[in-house]
Amino acid sequence: MNDALKATLAPTLKSWIQSANDPASDFPIQNLPFGIFSDAVNAQPRAGVAIGDWIADLAVLEDARLIDARGTFHASRLNDFIALGRETWRGVRIALSALLAHGNATLRDDEALRRRALVPRSDATMHLPVEIPGYTDFYSSKEHATNVGSMFRDPKNALLPNWSELPVGYNGRASSVVVSGTPVRRPNGQIKLPNEERPIFSACRKLDIELEAGFIIGRGNALGEPIACEDAEAHIFGMVLLNDWSARDIQQWEYVPLGPFNSKGFATTISPWIVTLDALEPFRTATPAQDPQPLAYLRHEGDHAFDIELEVTLRPEGAHTPTTISRTNFKLMYWSMAQQLAHHTVGGCNTRVGDLMGSGTISGPTPDSCGSLLESTWNGQRPVKLEEGGERAFLQDGDEITLRGWCQGEGYRVGFGECAGQILPARG
Ligand code: MN
Repeated sequence: MNDALKATLAPTLKSWIQSANDPASDFPIQNLPFGIFSDAVNAQPRAGVAIGDWIADLAVLEDARLIDARGTFHASRLNDFIALGRETWRGVRIALSALLAHGNATLRDDEALRRRALVPRSDATMHLPVEIPGYTDFYSSKEHATNVGSMFRDPKNALLPNWSELPVGYNGRASSVVVSGTPVRRPNGQIKLPNEERPIFSACRKLDIELEAGFIIGRGNALGEPIACEDAEAHIFGMVLLNDWSARDIQQWEYVPLGPFNSKGFATTISPWIVTLDALEPFRTATPAQDPQPLAYLRHEGDHAFDIELEVTLRPEGAHTPTTISRTNFKLMYWSMAQQLAHHTVGGCNTRVGDLMGSGTISGPTPDSCGSLLESTWNGQRPVKLEEGGERAFLQDGDEITLRGWCQGEGYRVGFGECAGQILPARG
């Protein structure tokens, strides 16, 4: 990391945009996450960067020759920009940081340009930031895998023998990944009731969330050419929050022997702002100790976890006060993103710019740190109490789930914004 890039991460850096200096803002000048937005003035989706309560319109700034991404910021997805490579991402970050920094008058004092280049975030509609060619979901939280294994198999042998040798994952469904704010319809499907011989066809009765983080591939690999664990982070553009909505009753019947299918394929929600790996660098920390030592292709030196605080709230339709149903941290994940990517490609599988990789449900060691209702209510047996009365074993129609995540710095936080979705009734 060169000095110019390091300077963009200084905790003391301030912006002339006052709302970016609020210690509670997710989007200080140290963050500069990329997204795709439109607004009432310009309905054309284009690239932007969140800064305080504003969005910097990158297409406008590029037209004014203040940043350079070869015209890719006019596109309605970030893939073409991301494909330009890490040096371009970093060049844009450095230029934007300078432009928005306290004391820089170039944009601040050019009123005509400033009016066009800054859009209030509250006026904007966010769109899916990337076209996602492929989506893979892992299962890398030891606490989550242990909870699920205890519940459905055997508490004494909760983890299957392969779990501690490789990052277990499956190929998910990219077509149904949606951006935060998109309503999610309760799925119908086959459910096998305990005392019936055959399944019934019904609306899901055990609709659940999975609190996850996702990473977006920034540089793909050719078919047949694995990505080495030590090189893997250079292939990652950035991270988002991810809710892997799950129909537990459909899942329990269908998942043998090939894994989840309709129980996961109906929707996956991601947050609209991609926080770059560069912005997360100050929050890098040690991964949990791994025992047994992984095979050679899964080894890397140094710190490969990131200290990201995570929170989930549930708000029933019409309620004013949401209930916090989980608080945990991404740094607890047993397998790192680098190890996931090395394992994904070790057999020769190619990845492409924009591919989405889910971490797997992130659960901590206590009931209030579980990343799914399946775990926190122990398959519905111990419902969680809601702030305004009532309780939930699983989601009801009208419930709104919001994931939040942030890295806490000294006097500032690098945040992800929200990853939200409301449940609509099943089709009759
Ligand atoms: Mn999942």
